[in-house]
This record gives sequence, C-alpha cells and structure tokens, in this order.
Amino acid sequence: MENCLFCKIINGEIPSSKVYEDDEILAFKDISPMAPVHILIIPKTHIDGADKLNESNSAVVSKIFTVAAKLAEELKLENGFRIVTNVGEDGGQTVRHLHFHLLGGEKLNTKLC
Ligand code: 5GP
Ligand code: ZN
Repeated sequence: MENCLFCKIINGEIPSSKVYEDDEILAFKDISPMAPVHILIIPKTHIDGADKLNESNSAVVSKIFTVAAKLAEELKLENGFRIVTNVGEDGGQTVRHLHFHLLGGEKLNTKLC
C-alpha cells in the first residue's frame, strides 16, 4: 500500500528494530515506547485496521496473538502484559495499518481510557 508507514517498514524503505519476522508477520520496537517493553506486531499484508477484518483476512490475527505469546515468554513478561489495538480516529489509531501493541515490563496503568 503506497504511503503506508508500516508497509514501508515491511519492505525495508524505513528502518526498524525487528524482534520477530516470518512470511506473514513482522514485530518491531515502537519508536516512542510507552512501557519498558513496547512492540508493534503487524500483518505483512496491508489491512487498514481491526474494523476491516473479515472472514477472508482475519486468520492472521490468531497468528499475531501466537507471536505475542512467544515474544512475551522470550522477554520474560511472566507477570503479565497488555495487547492493544486502536481503531480509527476515536480509537486513537495514528497509523492506518492493523497493528497490535504488546506492552509490558512494569505494572501498567489499569485505566483503559
Ligand atoms: P497507533 O497510535 O496507530 O495505535 O500506534 C502507532 C504507533 O506507531 C505509535 O505507538 C508510534 O509511536 C509508532 N510509530 C510511529 N512511527 C513509527 C516509526 O517510524 N517506527 C516505529 N518503530 N514506530 C512508529
Ligand atoms: Zn500498510
């Protein structure tokens, strides 16, 4: 997808600190972390956001959650972590490419909004 920041990260036009990659998924460190661990996990196929998931493209979400569990184990987040996806303007989504924030490494604020 032209002009999509995360598609540019996927194709290497913009550098990132990668922590996981396979054929379908990329995970990299957020550029302005909000917790000691703040990783973005994204599908390599462009999907605008969780509002655009459907029966034909949503299988990757279960794979993303499997990667999240694997990363959480590797990063020793055994005390817990949070997975967040913002959707659209009201949801605070600034990059319109589906992504899941994996946050942890400290006691997180329990206020959800
Ligand atoms: P959103 O606000 O859409 O839920 O999350 C977008 C996230 O992407 C933000 O947490 C922001 O810090 C991160 N971000 C924006 N630009 C870049 C970038 O160029 N590189 C990386 N690694 N993260 C970015
Ligand atoms: Zn994209």
